[in-house]
Amino acid sequence: MSYCDFAPGQPYHGPYHDREYGFPVKSDDALFERLVLEINQAGLSWLTILKKREVFRKAFANFDIEKVARFTPAKRAKLMTNAGIIRNRLKIEAAVENAKRIRALGSFAKWLDAHHPRSKDEWVKLFKKTFVFTGGEITSSFLMSVGYLPGAHEETCPVYKRVLNRKPRWAVT
Ligand SMILES: [Zn+2]
Repeated sequence: MSYCDFAPGQPYHGPYHDREYGFPVKSDDALFERLVLEINQAGLSWLTILKKREVFRKAFANFDIEKVARFTPAKRAKLMTNAGIIRNRLKIEAAVENAKRIRALGSFAKWLDAHHPRSKDEWVKLFKKTFVFTGGEITSSFLMSVGYLPGAHEETCPVYKRVLNRKPRWAVT
């Protein structure tokens, strides 16, 4: 069963599927949020992440890249005691390190735009050398979910057309 068949009407998956999944994301902090969520999903279900999203936002300063980049070792240790997020040291460290790396790029959105278009494999290579904790699956899920790679929705899904109307990068030639 595809996500488009399964997600609609579900309390957490439904709104994400209908309003976020595959729609282009322009703000750097929003892009950063989605990257962090995809990284945290590794080995877990997407539902687990969606349920924890509000706590994630509080714990990670609303995904303000500048603020997360400055998280001290004490702050990171404190996050390890927050049961509302995923208490995985590598994932927490990855959020902070990736915030620093995004800051060094200038703008995340502009950097993504500058590297578009690119095949999935080329994106994966680029992400591996630019960020941490960004393997093939995390990178391609992230890029699909924010509109840089196609494939989020089935063409028969009612949301597919709405996504296209918002001109995701993959659809713009
Ligand atoms: Zn869909």
